[in-house]
Amino acid sequence: MLLTERLDRLNQILKGCRSTTFYRDRIPDEPLEVFSDLKKIPLTTKEELRHNSPHGIICVPKHELYQYHETFGTTGNPVSTWLTKEDLLDNAREVNTSGINFSKEDIVLVRFPYAISAIAHMVHVAAQLKDACVIPASARSTISPFPRIINLMQKLEVTVLCCLPLQAILLAETAELMDLEPSKSFPNLRAIVTAGEPLSRGKRKLLEDIWGVQIIDVYGMAEIGTAITDCEFGRAHLLDDYFIFELLGEDLQTEVKPNELGYLVVTTLNKKATPIIRYFTQDRVRIVAEECPCGKKSHVEVHGRKQDTIRIGRRLLDLWDLEDIVSHFPSRRFWVAGPGSKGLQFIVEEETTGDKITSALIHKLEEMYGIPLEVQIAPKGTLYDRKELFTVNKVGKPRYIYSEEEMKQKL
Ligand SMILES: [Zn+2]
Repeated sequence: MLLTERLDRLNQILKGCRSTTFYRDRIPDEPLEVFSDLKKIPLTTKEELRHNSPHGIICVPKHELYQYHETFGTTGNPVSTWLTKEDLLDNAREVNTSGINFSKEDIVLVRFPYAISAIAHMVHVAAQLKDACVIPASARSTISPFPRIINLMQKLEVTVLCCLPLQAILLAETAELMDLEPSKSFPNLRAIVTAGEPLSRGKRKLLEDIWGVQIIDVYGMAEIGTAITDCEFGRAHLLDDYFIFELLGEDLQTEVKPNELGYLVVTTLNKKATPIIRYFTQDRVRIVAEECPCGKKSHVEVHGRKQDTIRIGRRLLDLWDLEDIVSHFPSRRFWVAGPGSKGLQFIVEEETTGDKITSALIHKLEEMYGIPLEVQIAPKGTLYDRKELFTVNKVGKPRYIYSEEEMKQKL
Protein backbone atom coordinates (compact mmCIF):
# COMPACT_ATOMS: atom_id res chain seq x y z
CA MET A 1 0.00 0.00 0.00
CA LEU A 2 1.34 3.43 -0.94
CA LEU A 3 2.17 5.89 1.81
CA THR A 4 -0.41 8.42 0.53
CA GLU A 5 -3.06 5.70 0.53
CA ARG A 6 -2.14 4.77 4.09
CA LEU A 7 -2.38 8.40 5.16
CA ASP A 8 -5.83 8.69 3.52
CA ARG A 9 -7.00 5.55 5.29
CA LEU A 10 -5.65 6.82 8.59
CA ASN A 11 -7.42 10.15 8.16
CA GLN A 12 -10.70 8.36 7.42
CA ILE A 13 -10.33 6.33 10.62
CA LEU A 14 -9.47 9.46 12.62
CA LYS A 15 -12.54 11.20 11.23
CA GLY A 16 -14.72 8.34 12.48
CA CYS A 17 -13.00 8.40 15.87
CA ARG A 18 -13.85 12.09 16.39
CA SER A 19 -17.49 11.06 16.86
CA THR A 20 -16.71 9.03 20.00
CA THR A 21 -16.66 10.41 23.53
CA PHE A 22 -13.25 8.87 24.15
CA TYR A 23 -11.33 10.17 21.13
CA ARG A 24 -13.12 13.51 20.68
CA ASP A 25 -10.59 15.56 22.63
CA ARG A 26 -7.52 13.56 21.70
CA ILE A 27 -7.61 13.82 17.93
CA PRO A 28 -6.95 17.06 16.00
CA ASP A 29 -9.92 18.52 14.12
CA GLU A 30 -8.05 18.70 10.82
CA PRO A 31 -6.76 15.66 8.86
CA LEU A 32 -3.07 14.83 9.38
CA GLU A 33 -0.83 16.31 6.70
CA VAL A 34 2.13 14.04 7.23
CA PHE A 35 2.40 10.62 8.70
CA SER A 36 4.62 11.71 11.57
CA ASP A 37 1.78 13.89 12.92
CA LEU A 38 0.29 10.67 14.23
CA LYS A 39 2.86 10.86 17.03
CA LYS A 40 1.17 14.01 18.35
CA ILE A 41 -1.89 11.95 19.31
CA PRO A 42 -1.48 10.47 22.81
CA LEU A 43 -1.04 6.72 23.29
CA THR A 44 -4.19 4.77 24.16
CA THR A 45 -3.81 2.55 27.21
CA LYS A 46 -5.79 -0.52 28.18
CA GLU A 47 -6.95 1.32 31.30
CA GLU A 48 -8.50 4.06 29.12
CA LEU A 49 -10.26 1.50 26.95
CA ARG A 50 -11.64 -0.14 30.09
CA HIS A 51 -13.03 3.17 31.30
CA ASN A 52 -14.67 3.82 27.96
CA SER A 53 -16.07 0.31 27.42
CA PRO A 54 -18.57 -0.79 26.31
CA HIS A 55 -20.01 2.23 24.47
CA GLY A 56 -17.51 5.10 24.52
CA ILE A 57 -15.38 3.81 21.65
CA ILE A 58 -18.02 2.88 19.04
CA CYS A 59 -17.66 4.75 15.74
CA VAL A 60 -20.58 3.34 13.71
CA PRO A 61 -24.37 3.51 14.07
CA LYS A 62 -25.75 0.79 16.35
CA HIS A 63 -27.48 -1.07 13.52
CA GLU A 64 -24.08 -1.78 11.91
CA LEU A 65 -22.82 -3.73 14.93
CA TYR A 66 -22.55 -7.43 14.13
CA GLN A 67 -20.52 -9.18 16.85
CA TYR A 68 -19.21 -8.41 20.34
CA HIS A 69 -16.21 -9.63 22.33
CA GLU A 70 -14.44 -8.71 25.55
CA THR A 71 -10.99 -9.27 26.95
CA PHE A 72 -10.74 -11.71 29.88
CA GLY A 73 -10.89 -8.92 32.42
CA THR A 74 -8.68 -10.78 34.89
CA THR A 75 -7.05 -7.50 35.92
CA GLY A 76 -10.07 -5.21 36.13
CA ASN A 77 -13.01 -4.35 33.91
CA PRO A 78 -12.83 -6.02 30.51
CA VAL A 79 -12.16 -4.06 27.32
CA SER A 80 -14.97 -4.21 24.78
CA THR A 81 -14.52 -4.75 21.09
CA TRP A 82 -17.37 -4.46 18.59
CA LEU A 83 -17.25 -5.66 15.01
CA THR A 84 -19.19 -4.79 11.90
CA LYS A 85 -19.76 -7.64 9.44
CA GLU A 86 -16.81 -6.36 7.39
CA ASP A 87 -14.65 -6.14 10.54
CA LEU A 88 -15.30 -9.82 11.24
CA LEU A 89 -14.29 -10.75 7.70
CA ASP A 90 -11.22 -8.52 7.91
CA ASN A 91 -10.19 -10.24 11.09
CA ALA A 92 -10.47 -13.59 9.34
CA ARG A 93 -8.47 -12.25 6.39
CA GLU A 94 -5.75 -11.18 8.81
CA VAL A 95 -5.50 -14.77 10.09
CA ASN A 96 -5.37 -15.93 6.47
CA THR A 97 -2.28 -13.80 5.73
CA SER A 98 -0.43 -16.51 7.70
CA GLY A 99 1.28 -19.51 6.16
CA ILE A 100 -1.46 -21.86 7.33
CA ASN A 101 -3.14 -21.84 3.89
CA PHE A 102 -6.48 -23.37 4.88
CA SER A 103 -8.16 -25.22 2.01
CA LYS A 104 -11.30 -27.22 1.35
CA GLU A 105 -9.30 -30.36 2.10
CA ASP A 106 -8.85 -29.28 5.73
CA ILE A 107 -10.67 -30.48 8.83
CA VAL A 108 -9.90 -27.78 11.38
CA LEU A 109 -10.43 -28.37 15.09
CA VAL A 110 -10.72 -25.13 17.06
CA ARG A 111 -9.73 -25.62 20.71
CA PHE A 112 -9.81 -21.89 21.64
CA PRO A 113 -12.63 -20.81 23.98
CA TYR A 114 -15.73 -19.70 22.07
CA ALA A 115 -17.34 -17.95 25.03
CA ILE A 116 -17.01 -14.15 24.84
CA SER A 117 -13.38 -14.06 23.65
CA ALA A 118 -12.54 -13.45 20.01
CA ILE A 119 -9.80 -15.71 18.70
CA ALA A 120 -11.88 -18.90 18.24
CA HIS A 121 -14.33 -17.00 16.05
CA MET A 122 -11.61 -15.36 13.99
CA VAL A 123 -9.87 -18.65 13.20
CA HIS A 124 -13.25 -20.30 12.62
CA VAL A 125 -14.30 -17.73 10.01
CA ALA A 126 -10.80 -17.69 8.48
CA ALA A 127 -10.97 -21.46 7.87
CA GLN A 128 -14.49 -21.26 6.47
CA LEU A 129 -13.56 -18.38 4.14
CA LYS A 130 -11.25 -20.94 2.52
CA ASP A 131 -13.99 -23.61 2.49
CA ALA A 132 -12.36 -25.74 5.19
CA CYS A 133 -14.57 -27.77 7.53
CA VAL A 134 -14.52 -26.55 11.13
CA ILE A 135 -15.03 -28.50 14.37
CA PRO A 136 -15.89 -25.90 17.01
CA ALA A 137 -14.56 -27.90 19.97
CA SER A 138 -13.94 -24.90 22.24
CA ALA A 139 -11.88 -24.84 25.42
CA ARG A 140 -12.13 -27.56 28.01
CA SER A 141 -15.67 -27.95 29.27
CA THR A 142 -17.92 -30.71 30.50
CA ILE A 143 -18.68 -31.62 26.88
CA SER A 144 -15.15 -31.13 25.56
CA PRO A 145 -12.71 -32.74 28.03
CA PHE A 146 -9.18 -33.53 26.84
CA PRO A 147 -9.67 -37.24 25.95
CA ARG A 148 -12.67 -36.37 23.77
CA ILE A 149 -10.55 -33.92 21.77
CA ILE A 150 -7.97 -36.64 21.18
CA ASN A 151 -10.76 -38.97 20.02
CA LEU A 152 -12.17 -36.31 17.70
CA MET A 153 -8.75 -35.61 16.24
CA GLN A 154 -8.29 -39.29 15.38
CA LYS A 155 -11.84 -40.16 14.39
CA LEU A 156 -12.43 -37.09 12.20
CA GLU A 157 -8.92 -37.11 10.68
CA VAL A 158 -8.23 -33.56 11.79
CA THR A 159 -5.66 -31.77 9.63
CA VAL A 160 -5.22 -28.53 11.60
CA LEU A 161 -5.44 -28.08 15.37
CA CYS A 162 -5.93 -24.50 16.64
CA CYS A 163 -5.13 -23.84 20.33
CA LEU A 164 -3.02 -22.06 22.92
CA PRO A 165 0.59 -23.29 23.02
CA LEU A 166 0.01 -24.75 26.51
CA GLN A 167 -3.06 -26.62 25.24
CA ALA A 168 -0.94 -28.26 22.54
CA ILE A 169 1.32 -29.59 25.31
CA LEU A 170 -1.60 -30.75 27.47
CA LEU A 171 -3.23 -32.48 24.50
CA ALA A 172 0.06 -34.27 23.80
CA GLU A 173 0.24 -35.38 27.45
CA THR A 174 -3.35 -36.65 27.22
CA ALA A 175 -2.58 -38.58 24.01
CA GLU A 176 0.46 -40.19 25.63
CA LEU A 177 -1.57 -41.23 28.67
CA MET A 178 -3.98 -42.84 26.19
CA ASP A 179 -1.01 -44.83 24.79
CA LEU A 180 -0.78 -42.76 21.64
CA GLU A 181 2.22 -40.95 20.21
CA PRO A 182 1.52 -37.34 19.17
CA SER A 183 3.92 -37.38 16.21
CA LYS A 184 2.70 -40.77 14.89
CA SER A 185 -0.89 -41.37 15.91
CA PHE A 186 -2.38 -38.43 13.98
CA PRO A 187 -1.18 -39.03 10.42
CA ASN A 188 -3.64 -36.50 8.96
CA LEU A 189 -2.49 -33.63 11.16
CA ARG A 190 -0.42 -31.22 9.08
CA ALA A 191 -0.17 -28.09 11.27
CA ILE A 192 -1.02 -26.44 14.58
CA VAL A 193 -2.18 -22.83 14.71
CA THR A 194 -1.28 -21.22 18.04
CA ALA A 195 -2.37 -17.89 19.50
CA GLY A 196 -3.07 -16.31 22.85
CA GLU A 197 0.41 -16.09 24.36
CA PRO A 198 3.70 -15.02 22.80
CA LEU A 199 5.33 -18.02 21.13
CA SER A 200 9.06 -17.97 21.76
CA ARG A 201 11.63 -19.74 19.62
CA GLY A 202 12.10 -22.37 22.37
CA LYS A 203 8.38 -23.09 22.74
CA ARG A 204 7.94 -23.33 18.96
CA LYS A 205 10.74 -25.90 18.75
CA LEU A 206 9.21 -27.87 21.64
CA LEU A 207 5.80 -28.04 19.91
CA GLU A 208 7.40 -29.01 16.59
CA ASP A 209 9.36 -31.78 18.30
CA ILE A 210 6.33 -33.13 20.17
CA TRP A 211 3.85 -33.10 17.28
CA GLY A 212 6.17 -33.31 14.27
CA VAL A 213 4.11 -30.76 12.32
CA GLN A 214 4.38 -27.15 11.20
CA ILE A 215 3.56 -24.56 13.88
CA ILE A 216 1.92 -21.33 12.69
CA ASP A 217 1.46 -18.63 15.30
CA VAL A 218 -0.88 -15.67 15.00
CA TYR A 219 -0.45 -12.74 17.37
CA GLY A 220 -3.17 -10.31 18.23
CA MET A 221 -5.63 -9.25 20.85
CA ALA A 222 -9.38 -8.87 20.91
CA GLU A 223 -9.03 -5.06 20.92
CA ILE A 224 -7.09 -4.85 17.65
CA GLY A 225 -7.51 -8.15 15.82
CA THR A 226 -4.62 -10.20 14.42
CA ALA A 227 -1.59 -7.99 13.87
CA ILE A 228 1.32 -10.38 13.34
CA THR A 229 1.25 -13.74 11.58
CA ASP A 230 3.80 -16.44 10.81
CA CYS A 231 4.59 -17.15 7.19
CA GLU A 232 5.00 -20.74 6.00
CA PHE A 233 8.64 -20.59 7.13
CA GLY A 234 7.59 -20.06 10.74
CA ARG A 235 8.74 -16.45 10.95
CA ALA A 236 6.45 -13.73 12.23
CA HIS A 237 5.65 -10.71 10.04
CA LEU A 238 3.81 -7.45 10.76
CA LEU A 239 0.52 -6.97 8.86
CA ASP A 240 1.26 -3.54 7.39
CA ASP A 241 -1.86 -3.57 5.21
CA TYR A 242 -4.11 -3.58 8.26
CA PHE A 243 -2.16 -1.62 10.89
CA ILE A 244 0.37 1.11 11.53
CA PHE A 245 3.08 -0.14 13.87
CA GLU A 246 5.45 1.78 16.10
CA LEU A 247 8.18 0.28 18.30
CA LEU A 248 8.93 2.71 21.11
CA GLY A 249 11.78 2.81 23.62
CA GLU A 250 11.43 3.18 27.39
CA ASP A 251 10.56 6.90 27.03
CA LEU A 252 7.51 5.81 24.96
CA GLN A 253 8.37 8.47 22.37
CA THR A 254 11.45 7.56 20.37
CA GLU A 255 11.37 4.67 17.92
CA VAL A 256 13.95 1.98 18.68
CA LYS A 257 16.59 0.94 16.14
CA PRO A 258 16.28 -2.31 14.17
CA ASN A 259 17.20 -5.35 16.29
CA GLU A 260 16.35 -3.52 19.54
CA LEU A 261 13.40 -4.45 21.72
CA GLY A 262 10.65 -1.84 21.73
CA TYR A 263 7.10 -1.50 23.00
CA LEU A 264 4.62 -2.34 20.29
CA VAL A 265 2.12 0.44 19.54
CA VAL A 266 -0.64 -0.33 17.05
CA THR A 267 -3.09 1.81 15.09
CA THR A 268 -5.84 -0.05 13.25
CA LEU A 269 -6.32 1.00 9.61
CA ASN A 270 -9.40 -1.06 8.72
CA LYS A 271 -11.46 -1.60 11.85
CA LYS A 272 -14.75 0.29 11.52
CA ALA A 273 -16.78 -0.35 14.69
CA THR A 274 -14.12 0.20 17.37
CA PRO A 275 -10.91 1.41 15.74
CA ILE A 276 -7.93 1.99 18.04
CA ILE A 277 -5.43 4.78 17.68
CA ARG A 278 -1.87 4.29 18.99
CA TYR A 279 -2.66 1.36 21.28
CA PHE A 280 0.07 0.69 23.81
CA THR A 281 0.02 -3.13 23.78
CA GLN A 282 2.67 -3.49 26.55
CA ASP A 283 4.28 -6.27 24.51
CA ARG A 284 7.95 -5.96 23.68
CA VAL A 285 8.83 -6.75 20.08
CA ARG A 286 12.07 -6.86 18.09
CA ILE A 287 12.37 -6.34 14.35
CA VAL A 288 15.05 -8.60 12.93
CA ALA A 289 16.35 -7.06 9.70
CA GLU A 290 17.08 -10.31 7.94
CA GLU A 291 15.50 -11.47 4.70
CA CYS A 292 13.00 -14.32 5.10
CA PRO A 293 12.72 -17.11 2.49
CA CYS A 294 9.12 -15.88 1.91
CA GLY A 295 10.53 -12.68 0.41
CA LYS A 296 9.87 -10.25 3.29
CA LYS A 297 12.81 -8.06 4.25
CA SER A 298 12.49 -8.58 8.00
CA HIS A 299 10.63 -10.55 10.63
CA VAL A 300 9.69 -9.90 14.26
CA GLU A 301 10.08 -11.62 17.60
CA VAL A 302 7.36 -11.06 20.22
CA HIS A 303 9.02 -11.13 23.64
CA GLY A 304 5.94 -10.46 25.80
CA ARG A 305 5.34 -7.94 28.54
CA LYS A 306 7.89 -6.24 30.74
CA GLN A 307 5.98 -7.55 33.79
CA ASP A 308 6.88 -11.08 32.68
CA THR A 309 10.61 -10.69 33.15
CA ILE A 310 13.14 -11.60 35.86
CA ARG A 311 16.11 -9.45 36.76
CA ILE A 312 19.22 -11.43 37.71
CA GLY A 313 22.12 -9.13 38.48
CA ARG A 314 22.34 -6.78 35.53
CA ARG A 315 20.44 -9.03 33.13
CA LEU A 316 16.76 -8.77 32.43
CA LEU A 317 15.43 -12.10 31.20
CA ASP A 318 12.08 -12.41 29.44
CA LEU A 319 10.10 -15.52 28.51
CA TRP A 320 11.92 -15.69 25.19
CA ASP A 321 15.28 -15.91 27.03
CA LEU A 322 14.01 -18.36 29.64
CA GLU A 323 12.58 -20.69 27.00
CA ASP A 324 15.83 -20.46 25.06
CA ILE A 325 17.62 -21.75 28.16
CA VAL A 326 14.96 -24.44 28.74
CA SER A 327 15.35 -25.60 25.11
CA HIS A 328 18.76 -27.03 26.11
CA PHE A 329 17.29 -29.20 28.88
CA PRO A 330 16.29 -32.85 28.28
CA SER A 331 12.88 -32.06 29.90
CA ARG A 332 11.20 -28.95 28.50
CA ARG A 333 7.42 -29.22 28.94
CA PHE A 334 6.75 -27.99 32.47
CA TRP A 335 9.07 -25.64 34.32
CA VAL A 336 9.11 -22.61 36.56
CA ALA A 337 11.87 -20.07 37.11
CA GLY A 338 12.71 -17.43 39.69
CA PRO A 339 15.58 -15.88 41.58
CA GLY A 340 17.54 -18.49 43.56
CA SER A 341 20.29 -18.24 46.17
CA LYS A 342 22.94 -18.46 43.47
CA GLY A 343 21.34 -16.68 40.53
CA LEU A 344 18.58 -17.91 38.23
CA GLN A 345 16.81 -21.01 39.50
CA PHE A 346 14.75 -23.46 37.45
CA ILE A 347 12.55 -26.29 38.64
CA VAL A 348 11.95 -28.60 35.71
CA GLU A 349 9.59 -31.55 35.64
CA GLU A 350 11.14 -34.85 34.61
CA GLU A 351 9.77 -36.12 31.29
CA THR A 352 11.56 -39.44 30.92
CA THR A 353 12.83 -41.35 33.94
CA GLY A 354 16.49 -40.61 34.47
CA ASP A 355 16.50 -37.19 32.71
CA LYS A 356 19.64 -35.49 34.01
CA ILE A 357 21.07 -32.03 33.73
CA THR A 358 24.85 -32.38 33.93
CA SER A 359 27.09 -29.80 35.53
CA ALA A 360 28.86 -29.50 32.14
CA LEU A 361 25.55 -28.35 30.57
CA ILE A 362 24.88 -25.91 33.41
CA HIS A 363 28.38 -24.52 33.03
CA LYS A 364 27.90 -24.10 29.27
CA LEU A 365 24.59 -22.27 29.78
CA GLU A 366 26.10 -20.03 32.46
CA GLU A 367 28.76 -19.02 29.96
CA MET A 368 26.23 -18.48 27.18
CA TYR A 369 23.85 -16.31 29.20
CA GLY A 370 26.31 -14.76 31.64
CA ILE A 371 24.32 -15.65 34.77
CA PRO A 372 24.73 -18.19 37.59
CA LEU A 373 22.24 -21.01 37.13
CA GLU A 374 20.67 -23.69 39.32
CA VAL A 375 18.44 -26.40 37.89
CA GLN A 376 16.46 -28.93 39.90
CA ILE A 377 14.65 -31.82 38.26
CA ALA A 378 11.40 -32.67 40.02
CA PRO A 379 9.38 -35.87 39.58
CA LYS A 380 6.60 -35.93 36.98
CA GLY A 381 3.41 -34.47 38.40
CA THR A 382 5.13 -31.93 40.67
CA LEU A 383 4.18 -28.92 38.55
CA TYR A 384 1.16 -30.30 36.72
CA ASP A 385 -1.17 -32.98 38.02
CA ARG A 386 -1.93 -35.26 35.02
CA LYS A 387 -5.09 -36.58 36.70
CA GLU A 388 -6.55 -33.15 35.92
CA LEU A 389 -6.53 -34.07 32.23
CA PHE A 390 -8.99 -36.90 32.77
CA THR A 391 -11.37 -35.41 35.31
CA VAL A 392 -14.74 -34.43 33.94
CA ASN A 393 -17.58 -32.93 35.90
CA LYS A 394 -20.39 -34.53 33.98
CA VAL A 395 -23.47 -32.38 33.58
CA GLY A 396 -25.93 -34.39 31.55
CA LYS A 397 -29.30 -33.47 30.11
CA PRO A 398 -31.83 -32.48 32.78
CA ARG A 399 -33.78 -35.41 34.14
CA TYR A 400 -37.10 -35.00 35.94
CA ILE A 401 -38.47 -38.52 36.38
CA TYR A 402 -36.91 -41.05 38.76
CA SER A 403 -37.76 -44.54 40.08
CA GLU A 404 -39.22 -45.06 43.54
CA GLU A 405 -35.84 -46.31 44.80
CA GLU A 406 -34.02 -43.27 43.40
CA MET A 407 -36.65 -40.96 44.88
CA LYS A 408 -35.91 -42.35 48.36
CA GLN A 409 -32.20 -41.65 47.87
CA LYS A 410 -32.91 -38.04 46.94
CA LEU A 411 -33.85 -37.06 50.49
ZN1 LIG B 1 8.51 -15.05 6.03
